[in-house]
Amino acid sequence: MKYVDVHIHLSNAIYHDRIEAILRESEDAQVVSIVSSAEDYQTSLETLRISQKYPARIYAAIGIHPNNTQLLTESELDKTIQLIEENRLNIVAIGEIGLDRRIPETEIDENQISILNVLLQAAENLGLPVIIHSRGAASEVLEILPSYNISKVMLHWYSGSLDLIPKIIGRGYSLSVGPSILYAKYLQDIVIKVPLEKILTETDGPVSYRGPFKGRLTSPSFIPEIVNFVHDITRKDLEEISTQIFRNFTEFFSLDLDA
Ligand SMILES: [Zn+2]
Repeated sequence: MKYVDVHIHLSNAIYHDRIEAILRESEDAQVVSIVSSAEDYQTSLETLRISQKYPARIYAAIGIHPNNTQLLTESELDKTIQLIEENRLNIVAIGEIGLDRRIPETEIDENQISILNVLLQAAENLGLPVIIHSRGAASEVLEILPSYNISKVMLHWYSGSLDLIPKIIGRGYSLSVGPSILYAKYLQDIVIKVPLEKILTETDGPVSYRGPFKGRLTSPSFIPEIVNFVHDITRKDLEEISTQIFRNFTEFFSLDLDA
């Protein structure tokens, strides 16, 4: 069995002295590959540094999280785009980017929208996949994406309307599921509707979780529990699920790894 964590934030300070330990426990849990996403310019630099220290184990996605757009200066945006361009071959995706409507029924901040557009344009120009955050803003994100010629789109921790699933699948986008699927019925209903070929697994650490994960520092070693749960609810063979998710991972990020 081989597992993957396609979305975690290893540049977060909480992991600072723990990367080696995290990698050891991931290895013990058969989690062989990790994609670490940045959230701003500084964490993009740090994510690149970590991924270069642990090649073929930690891959980098760099970008600007929608919650960090408010204080972002123009020069930071320019520097981030430049960093992405210069590191085209050192990164596997642009992420985490997207839109976030923290308070329901409010307008999405225009700044978030314009920064997302700049980052999507970079992804199109460079032919890179995107890791998308869409909390409370799934329909807005789905409206913006077709303006760009980007074939690899991953909606991380998708928690939008079930009604949008056919549109998402129809466009060939992927969804990543995380620890909360073990206790959030709504997310279980979503995963059942998505073909296995479009499912990826993530932890989004250091986000903390309830259920069996309560009180534990979020780590890629949670992944086998997530895959086991997908097995329980989909009734598909466990080995088939993990093999398919690994294949989804290598295809999505265009990685040439042994199956
Ligand atoms: Zn995240």
